[in-house]
Amino acid sequence: KVSMGTKKTDEEAEVCGDLGSRIMVFVRLRPMGKKEEEAGARSCVRIVNKRDIYLTEFASEMDYLRLKRVRGRHFCFDASFPESTTQQVVYSTTTAELVEGVLQGRNGSVFCYGATGAGKTYTMLGTLENPGVMVLAIKDLFAKIRQRSFEGKHSVLLSYLEVYNETVVDLLSPGRPLVLREDKQGITAAGLTQYRAYSTNEVMQLLQQGNQNRTTEPTRVNETSSRSHAILQVIAEYQVKDSNMTATRVGKLSLIDLAGSERALATDQRSQRSIEGANINRSLLALSSCINALVEGKKHIPYRNSKLTQLLKDSLGGPCHTVMIANISPSNLSFNETQNTLHWADRAKEIRTKACTANEAVPLPESETNQTKLLLELQKENS
Ligand code: ADP
Ligand code: MG
Repeated sequence: KVSMGTKKTDEEAEVCGDLGSRIMVFVRLRPMGKKEEEAGARSCVRIVNKRDIYLTEFASEMDYLRLKRVRGRHFCFDASFPESTTQQVVYSTTTAELVEGVLQGRNGSVFCYGATGAGKTYTMLGTLENPGVMVLAIKDLFAKIRQRSFEGKHSVLLSYLEVYNETVVDLLSPGRPLVLREDKQGITAAGLTQYRAYSTNEVMQLLQQGNQNRTTEPTRVNETSSRSHAILQVIAEYQVKDSNMTATRVGKLSLIDLAGSERALATDQRSQRSIEGANINRSLLALSSCINALVEGKKHIPYRNSKLTQLLKDSLGGPCHTVMIANISPSNLSFNETQNTLHWADRAKEIRTKACTANEAVPLPESETNQTKLLLELQKENS
């Protein structure tokens, strides 16, 4: 069912109001890793009823015998995914509805937040055998377009970019850092590649290649820690028709794999990496400040404080469906990080966003080929 114009049916308005009014927050618990098992880690997270999370701090054996109790905390989210949850279930619970929204001309965004090693990249990108949210979303988008589209009257454009050390880099065509530019449409990275995707098959390879271009630096805390934020933007353009007009709908989905949320400054105080750490903190800190300001209903939201928040401006407080997936490890050795992540996620539940609206449909004369026109417009915007 495709609706025309920006007027919504009651049913749509209801769904929209619900989703648009606050951020949906999910938590995904990953299985215990081999290294953790070898280190004698115990699970300190318990998920009950697919929503409630109990976090337990194991004191040392001695403390436990003396105090006869452990400290614990309880959290509750829109859904909490236990270790065994499949990629498909994570996708359909968190993101499928946003993909549907994109085809109604609305914007949506999904963030993965959590410490390094907590499962953010697995959730977003996944592996060839178990593709993650990014790939499943694009697959679903193509399937949905195929179901209702007129042959050829649609396009899916992908951009994949990284914010690292307060610079923005194009992951599909790495080179000089990109400059952020603000216009009526919001903030865009000038010159960013927009890859036109035709099928799901090519997408996984494209994204994996892009991920290889991500900046990873060995640090003392974790050798493979990913210290950059990766943002995939999927722009779907879709033609809708009724008896007397043809219009083009455009919806944007942003999928964001944030850098590790552990305190970056703790890794290396003296070298280049501490500057980098400060900048990672700056982006995540700025994100937290924006979240706090949004929660408190402040008029001024400090988006300008970092590149990340500038890029995410229309995904946080704007008219956008926003989903947060907090990734956590079960290991008691990561207790502090897990507690921080859950605390942050708990806070994010309070964010109220503007009611979401569909992007204005752009009516075009029948003779125009919409794709060419849109592509030209987008290229103009980004050049
Ligand atoms: P992050 O991106 O948060 O640093 P990763 O996604 O790289 O963490 O995950 C760390 C490790 O745990 C990887 O080897 C990954 O394959 C594995 N892993 C994470 N989540 C899951 C999961 N849900 N199921 C199986 N393995 C997982
Ligand atoms: Mg990662």
